[in-house]
Amino acid sequence: MQSESPSKDLKAHLGKSTERRSLEMNGSYICPVCRHGTLEAIVLMDAYSCHFCRHIFTADLLEQTVRVEDSSQPATWRWMGTQWQATNRVDVDLTIAVWLMGAVISILPPALIWLSSHTFPPLEDSGWSWFPTVWIALSFSIHFLMVAWLLVEHYQLPAYVALKVRLGNLFGMR
Ligand SMILES: [Zn+2]
Repeated sequence: MQSESPSKDLKAHLGKSTERRSLEMNGSYICPVCRHGTLEAIVLMDAYSCHFCRHIFTADLLEQTVRVEDSSQPATWRWMGTQWQATNRVDVDLTIAVWLMGAVISILPPALIWLSSHTFPPLEDSGWSWFPTVWIALSFSIHFLMVAWLLVEHYQLPAYVALKVRLGNLFGMR
């Protein structure tokens, strides 16, 4: 084709990911949730589904956006020609609550143990004098893990979502 510029040929040669295209119902796009599967149109509906994480998205072709419909976190993405851009306003109140709760959950229990072991220190010659330190460390790491899970669940990190789907497939939960 004469009309195509050399740079476009080069881009086509490099792969489809560099090619700008608009959001259409018959196109296929990478899933904005898991960043792993592809979105495919659901027949007779203005909707897509991801073949990997199975989320359902409704499409607004005028706005070039998709919205995930079956998630606890309502989210919208705009198609920028080559990639998605999150357009949903982050729920600030919820985010603050999650971080506050995370701080309290990870700090309070070890702090209480530290306080009690400091108020009533173990006897110097006791064989169990190491116990409070280990207990504090253990308590902190377990609670920190809980908070880390809470945060990735809140932010729905693509790597975490993809891992969850893989584990689900592995244990036959789907
Ligand atoms: Zn997906």
